Amino acid sequence: MTGTPLAVEGLRKGFADRDTVVKAIDDVGFEVKEGEVYTLLGPSGCGKTSTLRTVAGLERPDEGRIVIDGTVVTGDGVFVPPNRRDIGMVFQSYGIWPHMSVFENAAFPLRVARPKVPKKEVAARVESALAAVHLAGFEGRNATQLSGGQQQRLALARALVRRPKLLLLDEPLSNLDAKLRQAMRAELASLQQETGITTLFVTHDQDEALSMSSRIAVMQAGRIVQEGRPRDIYQRPETRFVADFVGTTNFLPGRGADGARVTTDVGDFAVKDAPHAPGDDVLLAVRPESVLLHLSEPSGTPNVLRGRVDRVMFVGEAVDCHIRVGEAVWVTRQDPHLAAVSGDEVWLELPADKIAVLA
Ligand code: ATP
Repeated sequence: MTGTPLAVEGLRKGFADRDTVVKAIDDVGFEVKEGEVYTLLGPSGCGKTSTLRTVAGLERPDEGRIVIDGTVVTGDGVFVPPNRRDIGMVFQSYGIWPHMSVFENAAFPLRVARPKVPKKEVAARVESALAAVHLAGFEGRNATQLSGGQQQRLALARALVRRPKLLLLDEPLSNLDAKLRQAMRAELASLQQETGITTLFVTHDQDEALSMSSRIAVMQAGRIVQEGRPRDIYQRPETRFVADFVGTTNFLPGRGADGARVTTDVGDFAVKDAPHAPGDDVLLAVRPESVLLHLSEPSGTPNVLRGRVDRVMFVGEAVDCHIRVGEAVWVTRQDPHLAAVSGDEVWLELPADKIAVLA
């Protein structure tokens, strides 16, 4: 039977911690569609690894169902062990065997598969998996002679060699140095696109999640608090937690004046798509790159704050300009040619359509 590659329903898992129970997974449900990269994103301890391990069958949930490609693998009294689930896995430590050649590492899942895979087919499948991760020609090398990035690709080839329905990736890039991580991010994304394999990805790295995912589920304390496309998660965070965790955000507390205006201590602001009623306490959230900076007072422009430059930090492709507005410090991202120095008086314009209004 075929169906949605992965459906997770009402998953719960608690771990005993002295007298209390830590709710590692607290009613988690989601569906991953064919060919998607679906990412669980959240801070350490939010439950993303536990969720992935439950999907893999390495963990039994207290409650809930997991359905892979139309087959119940966990729940309804069923528990299919990991090696009989149609999945490939790559973890943070790739688990490459140092005493084996590249070929044997990639071939391993086929060697232990039952029913036995014929020798010729093993060779053909390993060859195509190694070609897919651009390791053709490395078959005879010892795995320890590979660089970090190559080992990571070998781990991926090993996960793909059985042509699983679902690929599970748990922080697969976190052992690489920053530059290699960046390169592998693009490589992993294009490998995923080439193979079209449905992928469940776990990371705490927001850049990784934003750049690689079809959809993201942001997790907090065992729950999914927002699910959506990367663009929506970034541009339309629904809670302070999501706005804060994904990217840098400036916050300004206020109170709904009417549907299109919010009153704050530093003035009134016009907003769009504001789901609040007059009198509601709200939080305005504005990304650093959405703030327009003026070096002289703009006339007739709404949504302007006056401030003083606190610090200008050159970050290469941009400058991060910190601006003191009353008691608060606003972070703004500007063109690196910005002619402002510490102490300058400036005006911050907050375009109405770039202000997220959080309840
Ligand atoms: P990290 O990124 O640090 O791995 P995570 O978001 O993946 O974090 P989990 O590893 O799923 O989070 O852990 C969720 C919660 O469950 C944490 O509070 C953790 O301490 C607890 N937990 C996870 N595994 C166990 C275990 N085997 N025994 C006890 N508590 C556990």
